[in-house]
Amino acid sequence: MENSNKLCFMCGAIDSDGIILNGEMICRACEEKIVRTSASDPEYDDYKDKVKVILFDEHAKC
Ligand SMILES: [Zn+2]
Repeated sequence: MENSNKLCFMCGAIDSDGIILNGEMICRACEEKIVRTSASDPEYDDYKDKVKVILFDEHAKC
């Protein structure tokens, strides 16, 4: 069983209803933000970078 009390990777909220991406949790609020943010939004790059870190495990490797 997965631990259902994971913290949201994006905002740190605890949401057992969130989605798990590659072992990291994203709460529904952040998931909606990602889905609704268009490429012209200033936040888009920030979200995109965070999701990329999750999906491709691009944690700083120096
Ligand atoms: Zn969140």
